[in-house]
Amino acid sequence: MTSVQPIPMVDLREQYLTIKQDIDTAIADVLSTTQFIMGSNVREFEQEAADYLGVSDAIACANGTDALHLALRALGLGPGDEVITTPFTFIATAEAIAYVGATPVFVDIDPATYNMNVELVEQAITDNTRAIIPVHLFGLPCDMSALSAIAKKHQLHIVEDCAQSFGAAINDSKIGAIGDIGCHSFFPSKNLGCFGDGGMLSTNNAELAEKLRVLRAHGSTKQYHHTIIGYNSRLDEMQAAILRQKLPRIDQYNQARHNVARAYCEQLANVNVQLPLLNAPAAMGEATPVFHQFTILSDKRDEIKQALATQKIASAIYYPIPLHLQEAMVDRMPAKLSHPHAENVAQRCLSLPIYPEMPADSIQRVCKTIEQVVS
Ligand SMILES: *Cc1c(COP(=O)(O)O)cnc(C)c1O
Repeated sequence: MTSVQPIPMVDLREQYLTIKQDIDTAIADVLSTTQFIMGSNVREFEQEAADYLGVSDAIACANGTDALHLALRALGLGPGDEVITTPFTFIATAEAIAYVGATPVFVDIDPATYNMNVELVEQAITDNTRAIIPVHLFGLPCDMSALSAIAKKHQLHIVEDCAQSFGAAINDSKIGAIGDIGCHSFFPSKNLGCFGDGGMLSTNNAELAEKLRVLRAHGSTKQYHHTIIGYNSRLDEMQAAILRQKLPRIDQYNQARHNVARAYCEQLANVNVQLPLLNAPAAMGEATPVFHQFTILSDKRDEIKQALATQKIASAIYYPIPLHLQEAMVDRMPAKLSHPHAENVAQRCLSLPIYPEMPADSIQRVCKTIEQVVS
């Protein structure tokens, strides 16, 4: 009996092996200098990432959650302030709002894009609204021109949650270079991932960049001179050295993800499941998603998941409970509203394996298995 090969959600080992020599050399170089915190690799990576994103400043930090937290601190948000965001995201987006004592205000999603429905944003604005956090979920950019117009009209800040969308762009602007501040995560399974935790902020505002640099390093502008209460939120040299090897390859990785997504769409075209958009809605301009996840919708979600598991194929439910229904959030919202699209999608969504090196026969096996369940 031949045993079936398991298909994982992501195969980090496969990617490491393709660039092993460069990574191992970069790590060995850090070991030989024993400069582990805030050395040349972090400085160089910040410059290279800023150039890639087309921003004046990139500020590395410890993880994506901290990036969101530092961004809201740098903007001066606190108790009494309201921040509009999506209920269909990872908890970190809303945790950051809670960390500064501000109030999350959720607006429902567009089930076609999984992103915040921009048309619902304006009616959620009150006298207390200070900022909007769009999340480019699963790597699909939000409609930033519509959001920017609303933010300008109501004098609101925009903090982009780019944790799932490194390298995505709208027309010639990279995600993370459009709002006031972009927040990035380098968690190992993200599109640009290091070998531990890592994060970064991007901005074109020099004043905010300076505040962020001070906040991530214990509120000090000069060693042992602390002007404000800050944090220990640094990216370490080893992670920066690894990221410097991966950053020049990110477009190639994202293109490979898009190719996997296209293959899924072709092979599932006549199968009764709802597919994600291969390209952003045309009204948004030229925008290409970077497929952090490939997420389908089906009323038979649980049966599909079970059938895949039987074939040793991984799948994941991102996310089973929208944030407005999370126990940690219920007492923090100004009103208990329902968000029917987010609730419906949470019950029907299933993310399939996707990573740049995913073999064609694995994609076929996933699609065949799904087809057998729904036909
Ligand atoms: C991963 C993620 C974060 C948090 O990033 P960490 O580096 O894990 O702290 C924030 N927002 C979203 C949407 C994410 O997917």
